[in-house]
Amino acid sequence: MAERTVRRHETEGEIMGDWFQTIVDIEATPGEARGLAANILDWLIADGFVSAERTDCVLGADAGHAPGTRYGEAVEDEDPGLADVWSNGLRVTVGRTVFDAGQGEPSAVTCPHCAAETPLVDEHWSLIEETWALFGGAVNSWAEGHDEPVACPSCGRTAPVHTWLWADDCFAFGHLGFTFWNWPTLRPEFVGDFSRRLGGHRTVLVEGKL
Ligand SMILES: [Zn+2]
Repeated sequence: MAERTVRRHETEGEIMGDWFQTIVDIEATPGEARGLAANILDWLIADGFVSAERTDCVLGADAGHAPGTRYGEAVEDEDPGLADVWSNGLRVTVGRTVFDAGQGEPSAVTCPHCAAETPLVDEHWSLIEETWALFGGAVNSWAEGHDEPVACPSCGRTAPVHTWLWADDCFAFGHLGFTFWNWPTLRPEFVGDFSRRLGGHRTVLVEGKL
């Protein structure tokens, strides 16, 4: 089995890390993701949310877009210290990706057929290995192009892993994502604008820490 992508729940003391919020378009097809990414970027640059220049300001990619002059209008509480944080930019991801919350275990997953919820952690937030084993391989191989069906422990029917409903939005499966590194909490109106500008596609906000 492939190595798990999730590690532990963040209750064991605060560790300084890089916080991120990723807006994932879960409906964009592989063919339209690049064009949609360009449209969104045009808007974010034109409105001053991010700068046009690509610089070394994100994790997981060579370059991203640093906060623009009007970035404060995208967030709940503007952080004057953000400019001094090296990793403060927008990373745009195009391509089949499992967007995950970094640290933390997925707490539960719900079957798309019968709506039964399967817990994945025990009362100490430790992963229930036997149960996770039903899903882990499919989660980890999705990005490589596999749509492994997973059988529901309750009803026995199978469904591809990306159609299950993951608690706390700990996973989002998609071909297009916009990751804001270390930005304060994004305003719901700003997040909503993405969906509108993505042609009404449903989006999932995955938040986490590395
Ligand atoms: Zn079921």
